Amino acid sequence: MTNQPPRIKVGEGKISGIISIFLASLSLLGILCFKFPEIFTTADLREVYTTEIVETLMFVAITLSFGFSLLSFVLSKNKKFAVIGIILCACAIFLGGFEVEGRSVEKISWSIGLDWLILDLFLMVLIFTPLELAFPKNDKQSKFHPEWKTDLIYFTVSHIFIQLFGVITQKPAVALFSSLNLEVVHGFIQGLPFVVELILALFISDVFQYWAHRIFHSNEYLWRFHSVHHSTKHMDWLAGSRTHFVDIFFTRSISFIPIYVLGFTSLAFNTYIIIIAIHAVLIHANTNINFGILKYIVSTPQYHHWHHCEDSKYYGKNFAVFFPFIDMIFGTYYLPGKIWPEATGLSEASFPKGFIKQTIYPFKENPLTGIIPENEKSER
Ligand SMILES: [Zn+2]
Ligand SMILES: [Zn+2]
Repeated sequence: MTNQPPRIKVGEGKISGIISIFLASLSLLGILCFKFPEIFTTADLREVYTTEIVETLMFVAITLSFGFSLLSFVLSKNKKFAVIGIILCACAIFLGGFEVEGRSVEKISWSIGLDWLILDLFLMVLIFTPLELAFPKNDKQSKFHPEWKTDLIYFTVSHIFIQLFGVITQKPAVALFSSLNLEVVHGFIQGLPFVVELILALFISDVFQYWAHRIFHSNEYLWRFHSVHHSTKHMDWLAGSRTHFVDIFFTRSISFIPIYVLGFTSLAFNTYIIIIAIHAVLIHANTNINFGILKYIVSTPQYHHWHHCEDSKYYGKNFAVFFPFIDMIFGTYYLPGKIWPEATGLSEASFPKGFIKQTIYPFKENPLTGIIPENEKSER
């Protein structure tokens, strides 16, 4: 890997400084949610958390952030992170982080999912940072590699527009199948035991996802958009977020069709969403955890990293996201023992730097043939 920043060492005050900045930043975003809930919070998520829980979390986050910034100040020679952490904490306290008050909000049709972003970012960092540190696949790769900021922007955009993305991806299924009389099918599915219903939801949506994904690889124009997802050289838990919105709308719309037609219970549907959300992050993560014999049933990071293999000899493998045996059925399965791909990414494609340029680029140019000025090229 080129341009790798040096690994952060324990005891230098940087880790505590970064934790302080992270917690204070989330607290500041949380204050925005409290001040303007009708703009920045989603109706679905508001039903999950109570004001009391979030008030407590804010208090704990700001207090911890302040503690970590002091620790960083004591430990570090360069006090930059500590000072930024202290300033952000002071802003959070000054803006009322310790005395936020919840208020009831009218259920409106459209809002920005900032609450969803805060919650998911916090949980994903909490789960995957220790996992990648304890069981790394590539222990030379820094968390702050050259592509992490771009990937974080993809993560942020997909979360704050979660409501819009949800509505758009459900539209084709509703438009195509809402006129059918599906009550009998729904009744049968909802009468199944919960575990059977859940496995069926995972399996059938993965078969649809498999073919949508395969079309994105085989159709030259669609590949322009999907190749954005394959462009990252640095696989980690954040890398899977790098997906072009055309790719998101198309693939999710196709995967949602069987979910809609079969009419799963809300318990099965919500469990399905949570499982695929966490699993999709896991298979991109920089971790070598393997599920033992279960790796033939549920896809692992190693399995999906082969899908991202840079060497064109291995292109066109492992399209399924959840169940590897779908690839076995359709002849695209590849998992060579304990061997991992040498590198991930697309050596022959060029993408410009940054989220906005990468979003516009596939509409104008083919990343496999387009010419990008040297200073515009995405860092590798
Ligand atoms: Zn792909
Ligand atoms: Zn991927």
